[in-house]
Amino acid sequence: MQRSSVRALAGAAILCLGLGAFSAIPASAEPRQTEKTPTATGTGGAVSSVDPEASAAGIEVLRKGGNAVDAAVATAAALGVTEPYSAGIGGGGYFMYYDAATGKVNTIDGRETAPASTPHDAFIDPSTGEPYNFTPELVTSGAAVGVPGTVATWQRALDNWGSQSLKQVLRPATQVASRGFVVDETFREQTLDNKERFEAFASTSDLFLPDGDAPQVGAIFKNPELADTYRLLAKEGPKAFYQGDLAAEISQTVQAPPKVEDTKLPVPAGFVSTDDLANYEVAEQKPTSVDYRGLDVFGMAPSSSGGTTMGESLNILGNYDLSSMEPADALHHYFEATALAYADRGKYVGDPAFVDVPTKTLTSKLFGDDRACALNPEQAATKPVAPGDIENFDGQCPAATTEPAVEQDTENMSTTHLSVVDRWGNVVSYTLTIEQTGGSGMVVPGRGFLLNNELTDFSTVYDPEDPNRIEPGKRPRSSMAPTIVLRDGEPVLAIGSPGGSTIITTVLQTLLNRYDLGMDISQAIAAPRASQRNTAAVTAEPEFITQYGSALEAFGHKLTPAGDSFTPQAEIGAVEAVEINADGTLTAAAEPVRRGGGSAMVVAPAK
Ligand code: GLU
Repeated sequence: MQRSSVRALAGAAILCLGLGAFSAIPASAEPRQTEKTPTATGTGGAVSSVDPEASAAGIEVLRKGGNAVDAAVATAAALGVTEPYSAGIGGGGYFMYYDAATGKVNTIDGRETAPASTPHDAFIDPSTGEPYNFTPELVTSGAAVGVPGTVATWQRALDNWGSQSLKQVLRPATQVASRGFVVDETFREQTLDNKERFEAFASTSDLFLPDGDAPQVGAIFKNPELADTYRLLAKEGPKAFYQGDLAAEISQTVQAPPKVEDTKLPVPAGFVSTDDLANYEVAEQKPTSVDYRGLDVFGMAPSSSGGTTMGESLNILGNYDLSSMEPADALHHYFEATALAYADRGKYVGDPAFVDVPTKTLTSKLFGDDRACALNPEQAATKPVAPGDIENFDGQCPAATTEPAVEQDTENMSTTHLSVVDRWGNVVSYTLTIEQTGGSGMVVPGRGFLLNNELTDFSTVYDPEDPNRIEPGKRPRSSMAPTIVLRDGEPVLAIGSPGGSTIITTVLQTLLNRYDLGMDISQAIAAPRASQRNTAAVTAEPEFITQYGSALEAFGHKLTPAGDSFTPQAEIGAVEAVEINADGTLTAAAEPVRRGGGSAMVVAPAK
């Protein structure tokens, strides 16, 4: 179905409101938001997210005097309703904040952690002694569920920098959950993609497969149980999630997955205990920061690999004048830089609470200069390329080691990102996830939300040399890359994307499009994408292959179309950004097409 007809159906659904078909909706309910606008310019604050209900929730908070942090939490909570397969309180994420009063960028690492009793062989099937198959065993399991960090992230962000209470900012999302939202094509498709997994749990199929089918496009989908859960959090705060009945139910769901008898899925049990939930803590830390052509680019430090990998790539690319090159030449440099940076991510990056991560070196200009020596401007290197030597580098070449690394890539194309700027110039860039689209597939019975399967981001087999080896209490390495860009100390851009390990290249490619290749922010987001993550072939969108394939093959690159068994759609990422223009106006820029398109809104649109 074309998007226009989705809109027509959605419009019909809104009309029904006036006919009294939904008398249970409170008189104060805001109208349902269905119109997706990819670009909006104006003043007073801006929100960009993947969903119009979510962006509208953020705008409502901004309009009523809330700041960017309040609006970001409101938007995220609404995404938990309308994008429940990508994000929600059963998962985790990374929150980045630029504070206009201090000029500082701060971050919260709200990544899920491995439970305290997680064994090193958590992903080994005891009945065979072999690793579980990634799908279906591992992805649909209690064993892959990490201790969720999202509720703690929201509370910490509000405590540190917000101006409103959790209770206030949860209000719009609670209303969306109880009055319902209009099902679009993406929601229906994602539900159907998960049908077998969801059918394995009555709690999940009751919610997302009523009458055995995914909700139809244009239908109204309500989640009263999630509305109740949000009301509980509003009333009692995060302790209602991390302690008490709800915590016990989360632990019970993980340790004794509530699977139906006739499912073929094995659903291995997991380890999250009530103590794990009670002990969960977010980590506040400094962002990574690199200078790229006079811009300060702030990224997420480990446990995400987003900041180091993007920062290193930018430091390598800073050695070349991309803007003077033919597009294919610039793209060749982009591929070679990211291959080198992904080699180093694989070798050095994990949770810094467990691994000595050389974050400073990986983001240093000198190291980037050394790594640039391995970049042949004329010819693609054979992949995978070797990681660099972090002990011996001087910017003079060469720093590569002799050990080639193979990037293990089991991440998929899930997750969601939102960017917010308020009228005071505060900026939020926040990426959150439940890992796979549909997470573990398990809804906590009666609570209306899915649990994550984030621990699949650990390496499956334990290797004591691997920085991303599984350990109790550890955070699995992420690729999430919320980013804020400053020029002369003033913010100019908040940006991020979903897309598993392609998140980093997606954000990076969009920055190159914007700052090197002469595109405005909307063009930079819409342009076709490709991702080289130190693998033999570059993953690319079909349009990218059409435009640049033969020119890049001349450099020795092999391009394969995006899409795999998890994500058959041939697209990479879905950027949501807000740009702060030189005249002080804001441009919210959302993904125009991918995943059904995003939603850009401003408080006061320019005339
Ligand atoms: N688990 C992924 C990560 O942290 C995000 C989920 C996805 O997009 O696949 O990087």
